[in-house]
Amino acid sequence: MTAEARLRETMCRLAESLYLRGLTHGSTGNISARCEDGGLLVSPTGTSFGRLDPARLARFDAEGRHLGGDRPTKEMPLHAAFYETRSTAGAVVHLHSCHSVALSLLEDPGEDFLPPHTPYAIMLLGRVPLLPFFLPGDPAMGAAVRGLAGKRSAVMLANHGPVVAGRDVEAACNAIEELEATARLALLTRGLSPRALTGGQVRDVVDRFDVEWDA
Ligand code: ZN
Repeated sequence: MTAEARLRETMCRLAESLYLRGLTHGSTGNISARCEDGGLLVSPTGTSFGRLDPARLARFDAEGRHLGGDRPTKEMPLHAAFYETRSTAGAVVHLHSCHSVALSLLEDPGEDFLPPHTPYAIMLLGRVPLLPFFLPGDPAMGAAVRGLAGKRSAVMLANHGPVVAGRDVEAACNAIEELEATARLALLTRGLSPRALTGGQVRDVVDRFDVEWDA
């Protein structure tokens, strides 16, 4: 099996796993990954994460030309913006995960969408800005991600869903699961005066695990 065939299988297997655990539903969610030749594989528009076909993923070359497969997700500008601004991005995942979206409907938390409740959220995600609401497929979503100049690997689109870039498909999926789990914790403990990590504890995690945080 070629490296690209393995990558296609991994994308579809992990997307199905997210779908089966209710992390995205219906035909929501999209996933992309960088190929060895610098091109991209992207989930097609209107498809369910539960039933992605490795042979039908949209394939682009390194110059962004559509080489084959189905038409890509209309949220392609979001994916492209991460690859353009983060040289380390090997994969991007976007979900309509329930708890993250629920948290985005509440008051604006400022620069940090997720409260600092656990070290793993900090390690896997860094700071997660809440971006405004955009119409689905609006190229302005890509512009908003470019505006972060590659300094953030994860963002939350208000009233819509999270988008996370990782070095590969597994890392991006692990990180977006962490985002959803952290949002769920925030909702579960909302109004109960939860003990967040202190500023010093956050700093210790950032320093020990070399987290992108201050830029
Ligand atoms: Zn979406």
